[in-house]
Amino acid sequence: MIPYGRQDISQEDIDAVNEVLRSDFLTQGPMVQRFEAAVASWAGAARGVAVNSATSALHIACLALDLGPGDRLWTSPVTFVASANCGLYCGATVDFVDIDPRTYNMSVAALADKLADAEKTGTLPKVIIPVHMCGQSCDMAAIGALAASYGIRVIEDASHAIGGYWQGSPVGNCAHCDITVFSFHPVKIITTAEGGLATTNDPELASRMERLRSHGITREPDLMTHAPDGPWYYQQIELGLNYRMTDMQAALGLSQMARLEPFVVRRHALAERYDAALADLPLTTPWQHPDAYSAFHLYVIALDDAARHRAVFEGLRAAGIGVNLHYIPVHLQPYYRDMGFAPGDFPTSEAYYSRAISLPLFATMTEAQQDEVVTTLEGLLS
Ligand SMILES: *Cc1c(COP(=O)(O)O)cnc(C)c1O
Repeated sequence: MIPYGRQDISQEDIDAVNEVLRSDFLTQGPMVQRFEAAVASWAGAARGVAVNSATSALHIACLALDLGPGDRLWTSPVTFVASANCGLYCGATVDFVDIDPRTYNMSVAALADKLADAEKTGTLPKVIIPVHMCGQSCDMAAIGALAASYGIRVIEDASHAIGGYWQGSPVGNCAHCDITVFSFHPVKIITTAEGGLATTNDPELASRMERLRSHGITREPDLMTHAPDGPWYYQQIELGLNYRMTDMQAALGLSQMARLEPFVVRRHALAERYDAALADLPLTTPWQHPDAYSAFHLYVIALDDAARHRAVFEGLRAAGIGVNLHYIPVHLQPYYRDMGFAPGDFPTSEAYYSRAISLPLFATMTEAQQDEVVTTLEGLLS
Protein backbone atom coordinates (compact mmCIF):
# COMPACT_ATOMS: atom_id res chain seq x y z
CA MET A 1 0.00 0.00 0.00
CA ILE A 2 1.30 3.46 -0.93
CA PRO A 3 0.20 5.55 2.09
CA TYR A 4 -1.31 9.03 1.67
CA GLY A 5 1.38 10.41 3.97
CA ARG A 6 4.29 9.23 6.03
CA GLN A 7 7.28 10.47 7.99
CA ASP A 8 10.92 10.62 6.87
CA ILE A 9 13.25 9.59 9.71
CA SER A 10 17.01 9.99 9.13
CA GLN A 11 19.98 8.57 11.04
CA GLU A 12 20.50 12.09 12.48
CA ASP A 13 16.94 12.00 13.83
CA ILE A 14 17.59 8.63 15.51
CA ASP A 15 20.90 9.83 16.95
CA ALA A 16 19.26 12.97 18.33
CA VAL A 17 16.61 10.92 20.17
CA ASN A 18 19.20 8.42 21.44
CA GLU A 19 21.28 11.22 22.87
CA VAL A 20 18.32 12.43 24.93
CA LEU A 21 17.71 8.91 26.23
CA ARG A 22 21.22 8.97 27.71
CA SER A 23 20.83 12.49 29.14
CA ASP A 24 19.43 13.77 32.44
CA PHE A 25 16.09 14.87 31.01
CA LEU A 26 13.52 12.65 29.38
CA THR A 27 10.46 14.80 29.64
CA GLN A 28 10.25 18.58 29.18
CA GLY A 29 13.80 19.89 29.49
CA PRO A 30 16.40 21.79 27.47
CA MET A 31 15.47 20.22 24.11
CA VAL A 32 11.90 21.49 24.41
CA GLN A 33 13.23 25.04 24.81
CA ARG A 34 15.55 24.63 21.84
CA PHE A 35 12.76 23.22 19.68
CA GLU A 36 10.44 26.06 20.68
CA ALA A 37 13.11 28.60 19.79
CA ALA A 38 13.78 26.91 16.43
CA VAL A 39 10.11 26.88 15.38
CA ALA A 40 9.44 30.43 16.64
CA SER A 41 12.55 31.65 14.84
CA TRP A 42 11.57 29.94 11.58
CA ALA A 43 8.08 31.46 11.78
CA GLY A 44 9.31 34.89 12.85
CA ALA A 45 7.19 34.81 16.02
CA ALA A 46 8.32 36.03 19.44
CA ARG A 47 7.49 32.85 21.35
CA GLY A 48 6.76 29.16 20.87
CA VAL A 49 5.05 26.84 23.36
CA ALA A 50 5.47 23.11 22.65
CA VAL A 51 2.90 20.57 23.81
CA ASN A 52 2.02 16.91 23.30
CA SER A 53 -0.30 17.45 20.29
CA ALA A 54 -1.88 20.15 18.16
CA THR A 55 -5.19 19.22 19.78
CA SER A 56 -3.67 20.18 23.15
CA ALA A 57 -2.22 23.37 21.64
CA LEU A 58 -5.67 24.36 20.32
CA HIS A 59 -7.19 23.65 23.75
CA ILE A 60 -4.72 25.78 25.74
CA ALA A 61 -4.82 28.49 23.05
CA CYS A 62 -8.60 28.74 23.57
CA LEU A 63 -8.17 28.72 27.37
CA ALA A 64 -5.50 31.42 27.16
CA LEU A 65 -7.96 33.58 25.22
CA ASP A 66 -10.49 33.04 28.04
CA LEU A 67 -12.93 31.08 25.88
CA GLY A 68 -15.56 29.61 28.19
CA PRO A 69 -19.22 28.79 28.76
CA GLY A 70 -21.52 31.25 27.02
CA ASP A 71 -18.88 32.06 24.37
CA ARG A 72 -18.87 31.02 20.71
CA LEU A 73 -16.11 29.64 18.52
CA TRP A 74 -16.30 29.52 14.72
CA THR A 75 -14.17 27.36 12.47
CA SER A 76 -14.31 25.70 9.05
CA PRO A 77 -16.43 22.56 8.50
CA VAL A 78 -13.64 21.13 6.31
CA THR A 79 -11.10 20.33 8.99
CA PHE A 80 -10.12 17.65 11.46
CA VAL A 81 -12.57 17.48 14.38
CA ALA A 82 -9.93 18.90 16.76
CA SER A 83 -10.32 22.44 15.33
CA ALA A 84 -13.91 22.46 16.61
CA ASN A 85 -13.63 20.19 19.67
CA CYS A 86 -11.25 22.64 21.39
CA GLY A 87 -14.19 25.02 21.75
CA LEU A 88 -16.34 22.31 23.33
CA TYR A 89 -13.54 21.42 25.80
CA CYS A 90 -13.83 25.00 27.09
CA GLY A 91 -17.62 24.82 27.41
CA ALA A 92 -18.16 27.17 24.47
CA THR A 93 -20.62 26.72 21.60
CA VAL A 94 -19.21 25.82 18.17
CA ASP A 95 -20.44 27.03 14.78
CA PHE A 96 -18.95 26.96 11.29
CA VAL A 97 -18.26 29.24 8.31
CA ASP A 98 -18.50 27.63 4.87
CA ILE A 99 -15.44 27.25 2.65
CA ASP A 100 -14.23 28.96 -0.50
CA PRO A 101 -14.80 26.55 -3.43
CA ARG A 102 -11.31 27.08 -4.87
CA THR A 103 -8.97 27.06 -1.86
CA TYR A 104 -11.17 24.92 0.48
CA ASN A 105 -10.25 27.45 3.19
CA MET A 106 -12.77 29.45 5.23
CA SER A 107 -14.54 31.81 2.83
CA VAL A 108 -13.85 35.45 3.68
CA ALA A 109 -17.15 36.49 2.04
CA ALA A 110 -19.12 33.91 4.05
CA LEU A 111 -17.35 35.04 7.22
CA ALA A 112 -18.17 38.71 6.55
CA ASP A 113 -21.86 37.88 5.98
CA LYS A 114 -22.13 35.67 9.03
CA LEU A 115 -20.42 38.26 11.25
CA ALA A 116 -22.81 40.98 10.06
CA ASP A 117 -25.79 38.74 10.88
CA ALA A 118 -24.36 37.70 14.24
CA GLU A 119 -23.80 41.31 15.25
CA LYS A 120 -27.51 42.03 14.71
CA THR A 121 -28.56 39.07 16.85
CA GLY A 122 -25.89 39.52 19.53
CA THR A 123 -24.30 36.16 18.72
CA LEU A 124 -20.78 37.16 17.68
CA PRO A 125 -18.05 34.58 18.37
CA LYS A 126 -15.22 35.24 20.82
CA VAL A 127 -12.72 33.18 18.81
CA ILE A 128 -12.38 32.28 15.12
CA ILE A 129 -10.15 29.39 14.00
CA PRO A 130 -9.33 29.54 10.28
CA VAL A 131 -7.65 26.35 9.06
CA HIS A 132 -4.88 26.40 6.45
CA MET A 133 -6.31 23.50 4.49
CA CYS A 134 -3.75 21.28 2.71
CA GLY A 135 -0.98 23.66 3.81
CA GLN A 136 -2.18 26.71 1.88
CA SER A 137 -2.66 29.75 4.11
CA CYS A 138 -6.06 31.38 4.44
CA ASP A 139 -6.24 35.05 3.47
CA MET A 140 -5.14 36.09 6.94
CA ALA A 141 -4.93 39.83 6.23
CA ALA A 142 -8.65 39.81 5.34
CA ILE A 143 -9.72 37.45 8.15
CA GLY A 144 -7.56 39.26 10.71
CA ALA A 145 -8.97 42.66 9.70
CA LEU A 146 -12.57 41.40 9.90
CA ALA A 147 -11.96 39.82 13.30
CA ALA A 148 -10.27 42.97 14.62
CA SER A 149 -13.18 45.14 13.48
CA TYR A 150 -15.52 43.07 15.72
CA GLY A 151 -13.04 42.59 18.58
CA ILE A 152 -12.75 38.83 17.94
CA ARG A 153 -9.62 36.79 18.73
CA VAL A 154 -8.04 34.56 16.07
CA ILE A 155 -6.20 31.23 16.32
CA GLU A 156 -4.75 29.92 13.04
CA ASP A 157 -4.93 26.13 12.80
CA ALA A 158 -1.73 25.67 10.80
CA SER A 159 -1.52 21.93 11.50
CA HIS A 160 -0.96 21.43 7.75
CA ALA A 161 1.12 24.47 7.10
CA ILE A 162 4.55 24.62 8.74
CA GLY A 163 6.94 25.52 5.93
CA GLY A 164 4.27 27.52 4.08
CA TYR A 165 4.21 31.25 3.32
CA TRP A 166 1.59 33.92 2.67
CA GLN A 167 2.63 37.04 0.76
CA GLY A 168 6.25 36.09 1.36
CA SER A 169 5.96 35.74 5.15
CA PRO A 170 6.09 32.42 6.99
CA VAL A 171 2.90 30.91 8.35
CA GLY A 172 3.01 31.21 12.14
CA ASN A 173 4.38 34.76 12.34
CA CYS A 174 1.05 35.76 13.94
CA ALA A 175 0.91 39.04 12.02
CA HIS A 176 -2.89 38.68 11.72
CA CYS A 177 -3.80 36.45 14.65
CA ASP A 178 -3.24 35.95 18.37
CA ILE A 179 -1.89 32.38 18.24
CA THR A 180 -0.89 29.91 15.51
CA VAL A 181 -0.92 26.14 16.09
CA PHE A 182 1.25 23.55 14.32
CA SER A 183 0.93 19.73 14.42
CA PHE A 184 3.81 17.27 14.30
CA HIS A 185 1.80 14.07 13.86
CA PRO A 186 3.76 11.67 11.57
CA VAL A 187 1.65 12.41 8.48
CA LYS A 188 2.30 16.16 8.76
CA ILE A 189 5.25 18.11 7.31
CA ILE A 190 7.71 17.43 10.16
CA THR A 191 7.12 15.07 13.06
CA THR A 192 7.73 14.58 16.77
CA ALA A 193 5.58 11.37 16.73
CA GLU A 194 2.83 13.13 18.68
CA GLY A 195 3.30 16.83 19.23
CA GLY A 196 2.14 20.36 18.65
CA LEU A 197 3.32 23.92 19.16
CA ALA A 198 1.69 27.32 19.54
CA THR A 199 3.43 30.49 18.37
CA THR A 200 2.47 33.98 19.53
CA ASN A 201 3.89 37.48 19.69
CA ASP A 202 2.14 38.18 23.01
CA PRO A 203 4.40 37.27 25.96
CA GLU A 204 1.42 37.09 28.33
CA LEU A 205 -0.37 34.57 26.12
CA ALA A 206 2.86 32.54 25.88
CA SER A 207 3.33 32.48 29.66
CA ARG A 208 -0.32 31.59 30.18
CA MET A 209 -0.06 28.68 27.72
CA GLU A 210 3.15 27.49 29.43
CA ARG A 211 1.27 27.45 32.72
CA LEU A 212 -1.80 25.76 31.25
CA ARG A 213 0.27 22.93 29.76
CA SER A 214 1.54 22.08 33.24
CA HIS A 215 -1.41 22.04 35.67
CA GLY A 216 -1.79 25.83 36.00
CA ILE A 217 1.25 25.87 38.27
CA THR A 218 3.63 28.82 38.56
CA ARG A 219 7.01 29.29 40.23
CA GLU A 220 7.06 33.05 39.61
CA PRO A 221 6.72 34.91 42.93
CA ASP A 222 5.11 37.89 41.18
CA LEU A 223 2.12 35.75 40.23
CA MET A 224 1.64 34.20 43.67
CA THR A 225 -0.94 35.25 46.24
CA HIS A 226 1.81 35.60 48.84
CA ALA A 227 5.58 35.32 49.11
CA PRO A 228 6.93 31.78 48.57
CA ASP A 229 7.01 29.59 51.71
CA GLY A 230 10.52 28.48 50.69
CA PRO A 231 12.66 27.36 47.76
CA TRP A 232 10.41 24.32 47.14
CA TYR A 233 7.36 26.46 46.68
CA TYR A 234 4.99 26.65 43.74
CA GLN A 235 1.38 27.68 43.45
CA GLN A 236 -1.46 26.43 41.31
CA ILE A 237 -3.24 29.64 40.33
CA GLU A 238 -5.64 28.24 37.71
CA LEU A 239 -6.77 24.86 36.39
CA GLY A 240 -4.30 23.53 33.82
CA LEU A 241 -3.45 20.17 32.28
CA ASN A 242 -0.49 17.89 31.71
CA TYR A 243 0.14 18.62 28.03
CA ARG A 244 3.96 18.67 28.16
CA MET A 245 6.11 17.51 25.24
CA THR A 246 8.99 15.15 26.08
CA ASP A 247 12.63 16.02 25.40
CA MET A 248 12.83 12.95 23.13
CA GLN A 249 10.04 14.36 20.99
CA ALA A 250 11.59 17.82 20.97
CA ALA A 251 14.97 16.40 19.90
CA LEU A 252 13.28 14.63 17.01
CA GLY A 253 11.45 17.83 16.10
CA LEU A 254 14.60 19.92 16.25
CA SER A 255 16.41 17.47 14.01
CA GLN A 256 13.46 17.45 11.59
CA MET A 257 13.34 21.27 11.51
CA ALA A 258 16.75 21.20 9.82
CA ARG A 259 15.04 19.49 6.83
CA LEU A 260 11.82 21.54 6.79
CA GLU A 261 12.67 23.41 3.62
CA PRO A 262 13.79 20.38 1.57
CA PHE A 263 10.67 18.50 2.71
CA VAL A 264 8.41 21.25 1.38
CA VAL A 265 10.45 21.69 -1.81
CA ARG A 266 10.07 17.96 -2.49
CA ARG A 267 6.33 18.12 -1.86
CA HIS A 268 6.08 21.00 -4.36
CA ALA A 269 8.03 19.05 -6.98
CA LEU A 270 5.69 16.07 -6.58
CA ALA A 271 2.61 18.33 -6.61
CA GLU A 272 3.75 19.92 -9.88
CA ARG A 273 4.30 16.47 -11.34
CA TYR A 274 0.75 15.51 -10.34
CA ASP A 275 -0.59 18.77 -11.83
CA ALA A 276 1.00 17.95 -15.19
CA ALA A 277 0.06 14.26 -15.21
CA LEU A 278 -3.57 14.85 -14.21
CA ALA A 279 -4.23 17.94 -16.34
CA ASP A 280 -6.41 16.18 -18.92
CA LEU A 281 -8.45 14.02 -16.53
CA PRO A 282 -12.04 14.92 -15.50
CA LEU A 283 -11.02 16.39 -12.14
CA THR A 284 -9.79 19.60 -10.52
CA THR A 285 -6.21 19.75 -9.24
CA PRO A 286 -5.39 21.94 -6.20
CA TRP A 287 -5.83 25.61 -7.04
CA GLN A 288 -3.03 27.76 -5.69
CA HIS A 289 -3.63 31.35 -4.64
CA PRO A 290 -0.94 33.58 -6.19
CA ASP A 291 -0.08 34.98 -2.72
CA ALA A 292 0.38 31.53 -1.18
CA TYR A 293 3.31 29.16 -1.02
CA SER A 294 1.65 26.02 0.32
CA ALA A 295 3.41 23.55 2.58
CA PHE A 296 1.48 20.91 0.54
CA HIS A 297 0.54 18.66 3.44
CA LEU A 298 -2.20 17.27 1.17
CA TYR A 299 -2.76 16.97 -2.56
CA VAL A 300 -6.56 16.90 -2.92
CA ILE A 301 -8.27 16.29 -6.26
CA ALA A 302 -11.98 16.96 -6.80
CA LEU A 303 -13.68 14.68 -9.31
CA ASP A 304 -15.94 16.37 -11.89
CA ASP A 305 -18.46 13.56 -11.53
CA ALA A 306 -19.57 13.11 -7.91
CA ALA A 307 -21.51 10.02 -8.93
CA ARG A 308 -18.22 8.18 -9.56
CA HIS A 309 -16.53 9.39 -6.37
CA ARG A 310 -17.04 6.31 -4.24
CA ALA A 311 -16.16 3.84 -7.02
CA VAL A 312 -12.95 5.72 -7.90
CA PHE A 313 -11.97 5.92 -4.23
CA GLU A 314 -12.63 2.21 -3.71
CA GLY A 315 -10.77 1.37 -6.94
CA LEU A 316 -7.69 3.25 -5.76
CA ARG A 317 -7.75 1.54 -2.37
CA ALA A 318 -8.22 -1.87 -4.03
CA ALA A 319 -5.16 -1.16 -6.19
CA GLY A 320 -3.02 -0.49 -3.11
CA ILE A 321 -3.16 3.29 -3.29
CA GLY A 322 -3.78 4.55 0.25
CA VAL A 323 -6.01 7.47 -0.66
CA ASN A 324 -7.94 9.28 2.04
CA LEU A 325 -10.67 11.91 2.35
CA HIS A 326 -9.85 15.08 4.26
CA TYR A 327 -12.37 15.74 5.66
CA ILE A 328 -15.87 14.60 6.45
CA PRO A 329 -17.41 18.02 7.23
CA VAL A 330 -17.37 18.28 11.02
CA HIS A 331 -21.00 19.46 11.26
CA LEU A 332 -22.09 16.12 9.74
CA GLN A 333 -20.49 14.07 12.53
CA PRO A 334 -23.15 12.48 14.77
CA TYR A 335 -21.81 14.32 17.82
CA TYR A 336 -22.36 17.64 16.02
CA ARG A 337 -25.66 16.57 14.42
CA ASP A 338 -26.94 16.09 17.98
CA MET A 339 -26.30 19.83 18.51
CA GLY A 340 -28.70 20.62 15.67
CA PHE A 341 -26.44 20.74 12.59
CA ALA A 342 -27.87 19.09 9.49
CA PRO A 343 -27.00 18.31 5.88
CA GLY A 344 -27.43 21.44 3.77
CA ASP A 345 -26.05 23.77 6.47
CA PHE A 346 -22.73 24.34 4.66
CA PRO A 347 -23.34 23.48 0.98
CA THR A 348 -19.88 24.29 -0.39
CA SER A 349 -18.22 22.06 2.23
CA GLU A 350 -20.69 19.27 1.47
CA ALA A 351 -20.13 19.60 -2.30
CA TYR A 352 -16.39 19.38 -1.66
CA TYR A 353 -16.91 16.24 0.43
CA SER A 354 -18.82 14.58 -2.41
CA ARG A 355 -15.85 14.91 -4.81
CA ALA A 356 -12.58 15.13 -2.86
CA ILE A 357 -9.84 12.52 -2.72
CA SER A 358 -6.41 13.04 -1.07
CA LEU A 359 -3.76 11.39 -3.23
CA PRO A 360 -0.55 10.09 -1.65
CA LEU A 361 2.02 12.84 -1.10
CA PHE A 362 5.04 12.65 1.20
CA ALA A 363 8.69 13.68 1.03
CA THR A 364 10.05 10.16 0.48
CA MET A 365 7.53 9.29 -2.23
CA THR A 366 9.26 8.09 -5.40
CA GLU A 367 8.34 9.10 -8.93
CA ALA A 368 7.63 5.41 -9.65
CA GLN A 369 5.10 5.36 -6.80
CA GLN A 370 3.57 8.55 -8.11
CA ASP A 371 3.33 7.13 -11.64
CA GLU A 372 1.50 4.13 -10.20
CA VAL A 373 -1.04 6.45 -8.59
CA VAL A 374 -1.52 8.37 -11.84
CA THR A 375 -1.86 5.26 -14.02
CA THR A 376 -4.38 3.68 -11.64
CA LEU A 377 -6.42 6.87 -11.54
CA GLU A 378 -6.35 7.18 -15.35
CA GLY A 379 -7.60 3.60 -15.64
CA LEU A 380 -10.44 4.18 -13.20
CA LEU A 381 -11.56 7.42 -14.89
CA SER A 382 -11.34 6.19 -18.50
C1 LIG B 1 -3.71 16.88 12.50
C2 LIG B 1 -4.64 18.03 12.76
C3 LIG B 1 -4.99 18.44 14.04
C4 LIG B 1 -4.63 17.68 15.27
O1 LIG B 1 -3.30 17.43 15.36
P1 LIG B 1 -2.73 16.44 16.49
O2 LIG B 1 -1.29 16.85 16.60
O3 LIG B 1 -2.90 15.06 15.95
O4 LIG B 1 -3.50 16.66 17.73
C5 LIG B 1 -5.76 19.58 14.19
N1 LIG B 1 -6.19 20.27 13.11
C6 LIG B 1 -5.91 19.88 11.86
C7 LIG B 1 -6.40 20.70 10.71
C8 LIG B 1 -5.14 18.74 11.64
O5 LIG B 1 -4.88 18.33 10.39
